[in-house]
Amino acid sequence: MPIRSAGTQPSRRSNGARVQEFSAKLKAVVSEALIHIFEQEYRELRPRAPMPALDIRFRRFTSLNTTIRLRDGRLHVRLSDLLEHAPEAVHRAIAHILLAKLYKKLPIQRIHADRYRRYVSSEPVARQAEYIRQTRGRKKILTAKGHHYDLDEVFESLNLRFFHGLLGRPTLTWSAHHARRMLGHYDAAHNTIMVSRVFDRPDTPRCAIEYLLYHEMLHLKHPVRVKAGRRCVHSKAFQDEERLFPELEQAKAYLKRL
Ligand SMILES: [Zn+2]
Repeated sequence: MPIRSAGTQPSRRSNGARVQEFSAKLKAVVSEALIHIFEQEYRELRPRAPMPALDIRFRRFTSLNTTIRLRDGRLHVRLSDLLEHAPEAVHRAIAHILLAKLYKKLPIQRIHADRYRRYVSSEPVARQAEYIRQTRGRKKILTAKGHHYDLDEVFESLNLRFFHGLLGRPTLTWSAHHARRMLGHYDAAHNTIMVSRVFDRPDTPRCAIEYLLYHEMLHLKHPVRVKAGRRCVHSKAFQDEERLFPELEQAKAYLKRL
């Protein structure tokens, strides 16, 4: 496997993470108003479908992450607590984007996409997100800007192309050493994607770096699940989505030649 990440993620959580999780649970109560907004947007997109039960929670993410999952007929929505005090119109935009994506009612309405993007890139929100990323993230010198490639820039372009700009940006960093064994890695505990320094050279094709990052971004989107005692790292949904990368074969062939 060109990209190792299966056995390398820390399976044990630190005490700090557990405390964090506990305080997140205390914040789980979501306003009726927000549930109502999701119900209205659902109705708009699926006028005749039965209304699923909604489980909406704010989580203490280290980034502006938003996720939606349909499990056992129930919609599970997780929003970064950074979005908790966003204006109603922004909550509505988020509801529309998440539901349209989940039910493949595309394209996403422009007005909602624009409103969401304007809000998260507005100065106070961006500054708060940056502050939280630093204080909640790991204290270590990390660098996304390489000599030839800027991982933050590559991430944002992939985010727009494949994830409707919805993936919260984790800490991105080049590895300290020229690792050849582990080419890319997503560390869930620290919400960090690391890419091996060996790729930060002018003759590395952009599609190879994009593929490495895209793969790790899918880990961000599809967390490891435990099924019958086994860790499922690359689920079917993960693999299906990975095949959407247009230069998949080309990128894989390049990585194999290393
Ligand atoms: Zn992987």
